[in-house]
Amino acid sequence: MVARFTAQELLHSDLLINGEWVGGSQAQRFPVTNPSTGEVITQVASASQADVHTAIAAAQAALPAWSGLTAVERSRILRKWFDLIVENVDSLAEILTLEQGKPLEEARGEILYGANFIEWFAEEVKRLYGETIPTNVSSRRLLTIRQPIGVTAAITPWNFPMAMIARKAGPAIAAGCPMIVKPAAETPLSALAIGRLALEAGVHPGVLQVITGPASVIGPELTASPAIRALSFTGSTEVGKKLMSDCAHTVKKVAMELGGNAPVIVFDDADIEIAVSGTIDSKFRNSGQTCVCANRIFVQAGIHDRFVEALSTAVAKLNVGDGFSRDVQQGPLINLEAVEKVESHISDAVSRGAKVVVGGNRHSIGGTFFEPTLITSATMDMTIASEETFGPVAPIFIFETEEEGLEMANSTPFGLAGYFFTQDLARMWRVSEKLEVGVVGVNTGLISYEGAPFGGVKESGVGREGSLHGIEEFLEMKYICIGAVN
Ligand code: NAP
Repeated sequence: MVARFTAQELLHSDLLINGEWVGGSQAQRFPVTNPSTGEVITQVASASQADVHTAIAAAQAALPAWSGLTAVERSRILRKWFDLIVENVDSLAEILTLEQGKPLEEARGEILYGANFIEWFAEEVKRLYGETIPTNVSSRRLLTIRQPIGVTAAITPWNFPMAMIARKAGPAIAAGCPMIVKPAAETPLSALAIGRLALEAGVHPGVLQVITGPASVIGPELTASPAIRALSFTGSTEVGKKLMSDCAHTVKKVAMELGGNAPVIVFDDADIEIAVSGTIDSKFRNSGQTCVCANRIFVQAGIHDRFVEALSTAVAKLNVGDGFSRDVQQGPLINLEAVEKVESHISDAVSRGAKVVVGGNRHSIGGTFFEPTLITSATMDMTIASEETFGPVAPIFIFETEEEGLEMANSTPFGLAGYFFTQDLARMWRVSEKLEVGVVGVNTGLISYEGAPFGGVKESGVGREGSLHGIEEFLEMKYICIGAVN
């Protein structure tokens, strides 16, 4: 095991089932590697079908006592969990950078961002009101109550190993629902570490369980189980569609946070400085590996050359390196497959007439590091226009009119985030309303906040996370009609 840590005690590699650390019934393990160095960090337990069954049974057993606590009691435990995460932010950030590669400061930011969802839902659960309904019959009284949906499951990706779990487990556990989490194979350590802190905070055994191992074994057990009443998934659209279909057999509630293909539109009247820094934030955070990453940058003809010049200067300044090095803004890509995808998007674009202005190649550091890249003369027939690149490549498309820019931005089956830059107030309204996305950033590339609803339209997903709406995925509304009152 790598001895970099200040907090080895948060580094777990066994399954967290029913409050215990267990090696798994088949005693198999899989390696977790540091994408910066290729070094194996540790070998993590690989769950079998039997382990998943044990976890589901433990969650069912934990449900009555946990959902039976008052909202205030659950809120206090969640608050403690939040406090422990904040106290351990440095160690958790190290674990995150080690397994995922993002710069340490960015990892710290993710831990605090994730923790905020736990704090938010610890508060929100105290306000899960029902309603009284004016009656239609004088001898009846009508009301609704909101109840926990039951046992839930979460399947999460590697690009935000902590925050994507906190965004789901925070509201589920606050609502009274046990949750079984299956983190991505590349990044299970952050999940296990926050699972450990949940236990320490007093979350009952069996209420937050973390099972690591093959998706092909764990996925079907979770989706087929009638005991699991809701599945919250963040990941690719392809896998999301499969899970939706698998969940249909037991009619589970599903929340799907899927892939994006975010447009950035820079209008002629934009403030160049704001547009450049917003585009850098949106495009290059996490080395371009976020679902809300700018994937296509549409620039109006009148501002095109000035914008390209300013953006290329900013892109060329981005510092690439190991996430533990100081002053690094971009870490490695998660694996070689990701590097090959980026290369294939660039070579496809170049073969169809695009020009590489900055970068374009694997970084001289080696491994999975890639140069921050800017290409111009991108066109809608290129792969980069229709597929998520998930890497540090900014392709610039040119357009003439607002209608044309919007049409190009909306010509995708995806609809997660969209950004635009303008100083025209009327245009801010018009374009915000017409962009076919769930989240709009106007004159900013950073939109995430636990108090705001996050989610996609079209093939980018169903449901919302965060805000007062994010807990709905884990609740059922019950209507009660009381007769013979008179
Ligand atoms: P992915 O391949 O879909 O994997 C996501 C999770 O699903 C992982 O835990 C993976 O497990 C699991 N999985 C894969 N196949 C499965 C199956 N057949 N049954 C059950 N589980 C299965 O996505 P990724 O490459 O990790 O993440 C990148 C994608 O996530 C991008 O498309 C990105 O846009 C999207 N994303 C969306 C949001 C959002 O909020 N909308 C946020 C972040 C990322 P293994 O790791 O074990 O294969």
